Amino acid sequence: MRWTQALIPTLREAPAEAEIISHQLLLRAGLIRKLAGGLYTFLPLGLRSLRKIEQIIREEMNRAGALEVLMPALQPPEIWQQSGRYETARDVLFKVRDRAKKEWLLGPTHEEVITTLVAGEINSYRQLPKNFYQIQTKFRDEIRPRFGLMRAKEFIMKDAYSFDATDEGAQASYQKMYDAYTRIFARCGLKAFPVEADTGVMGGKFSHEFMVPAETGENEVVYCEVCNYAANIDKATSAAQKSEVRSQKSEVEKFATPGVVTIEALAKAPFNVAADRQIKTLVYIVASKPVLILLRGDHQLNEAKLTGKLGTAEFRAATADEIFAALGAHPGSLGAVAATLKGGTGFQPVNPEHRLEAGATLPVYADETLRDASDMTTGANEDGFHLRHVDIARDIIVKQWADLRTAQAGEPCAKCGQPLKIRRAIEVGHVFKLGTKYSIALKALFLDETGKQQPAVMGCYGIGVTRTMQAIIEQSHDKDGIVWPLNVAPYTVCITPLSPASAGAGGAVMTLAEKIYAELTVKGVDVILDDRDERPGVKFKDSELVGFPIRIGIGEKSLAKGEVELKPRGGALQAVKADEALAAVMKMLA
Ligand code: ATP
Ligand code: MG
Repeated sequence: MRWTQALIPTLREAPAEAEIISHQLLLRAGLIRKLAGGLYTFLPLGLRSLRKIEQIIREEMNRAGALEVLMPALQPPEIWQQSGRYETARDVLFKVRDRAKKEWLLGPTHEEVITTLVAGEINSYRQLPKNFYQIQTKFRDEIRPRFGLMRAKEFIMKDAYSFDATDEGAQASYQKMYDAYTRIFARCGLKAFPVEADTGVMGGKFSHEFMVPAETGENEVVYCEVCNYAANIDKATSAAQKSEVRSQKSEVEKFATPGVVTIEALAKAPFNVAADRQIKTLVYIVASKPVLILLRGDHQLNEAKLTGKLGTAEFRAATADEIFAALGAHPGSLGAVAATLKGGTGFQPVNPEHRLEAGATLPVYADETLRDASDMTTGANEDGFHLRHVDIARDIIVKQWADLRTAQAGEPCAKCGQPLKIRRAIEVGHVFKLGTKYSIALKALFLDETGKQQPAVMGCYGIGVTRTMQAIIEQSHDKDGIVWPLNVAPYTVCITPLSPASAGAGGAVMTLAEKIYAELTVKGVDVILDDRDERPGVKFKDSELVGFPIRIGIGEKSLAKGEVELKPRGGALQAVKADEALAAVMKMLA
């Protein structure tokens, strides 16, 4: 490619809307342009990198035995109703209507489509296992599209779906994808690490996300440097100390706490109740009914863990009005002590109207760290009052104990006891053992060896292709621009003649540039020749900004000595004999 024939609209300044460096560099290097929020056009150079990433993915998926297909982006809503996701995924679904006013969906993912396909095509264990993948555009009505390609409304994903006859088979398929992902990211020059991931309502332990450490990442990863434990914060556990059991006989005692509505305020004088001696009571609405969630005062609820425990993501924090209606008090004075909940035996709610029916208690979900805790303090369900000497086992009727809290940095690793760390990261891929949820719902059934009908055991495996491209830039850049890893650069080599082309195409500099350009092209190297009539400074700046891995500078001065200048991006300039330049470049690429 000759620069003068290309479209490489580099920018000196990043447009103001680009908040993070990778987004700025995508725009400044002329790789993408914004059409509207969350919608981008790939310019020729950006597309070249994208295609290289796709090709690496394709090769590794094929090598792992997956079969490439291409499914429609437009999908009928009926299959989403069948799987139940028409409701649960409604927030991200783009819906369109055809001329007959029938509704269609723009696919955010393809479990429903592939499972429908398999239901029609596969009916015997002899046809299994199978793994189908595609590289295709997805549509998601994200709440907050941002950071360029990182969270877009329309983006390219590689999605794969495995179907196995047995659970062990499904685990083997999962492992193959896990290994393929490891190779894919390595070949892209990206340092991505697998971390244990939340399995949501599916449950099970086979889910990993591939994470690229980055300050700007939207995920938090909890990790241990000693034993290499790593998990998404939504999944991570820690060996946090349980609340100390204090020998106590004293009865629950109500005390006045006027104006005290936070854990912090109660921890201060004159009350001095340390946060870890307090019970934090949250009210959530699950299936339109209030549910109480208890955590230690110094801990935070993790909603992903709650989803797993409740088996549904259909819940929300109660509003102040709903809380008052259920408990007769406002946030800051809430508690789960049975007596105050029942309303009958001990502490009356301020407003008798808010008393629950006799004998009724609200379902209480309590975090494991509170188990057996005694001498705790919690709200009295009466504004301005708290209760002390609460013994959980004695005073609170817990429906379910569960790990509900968010692990915190510094807590001991559950595996090895060393202090955990937390860092931010970008999720570029996800492998997930799905089980039979979709195969049952959409009837992907097969006959096993004994002639019995069984649902296929599924897995799904996604890579955000466009997000991966941006993650590479987020991880690999310097003050001058992008530092492309060799395999995914738009062009691998940039030839930069330093005398203006107008000096005459016959000039020695241009002649040599053309010669090396032709030779590299013949060798199959992706090379761009900067034949612009620009000052050397401009050419250097542009080639650093776009980030070509190798630059060959050809100037009159060095050529007089029979030399050209090779510069690996981010490395030191080296002079090589002009007639050895080709061999030197090929060596760098080997
Ligand atoms: P996230 O938590 O970031 O929204 P997700 O869990 O919704 O991701 P999946 O449904 O597992 O993502 O999709 C597979 C991959 O697609 C993700 O690992 C990510 O790399 C990519 N991806 C998901 N949503 C977007 C988006 N809005 N823009 C760009 N890439 C995305
Ligand atoms: Mg998402």
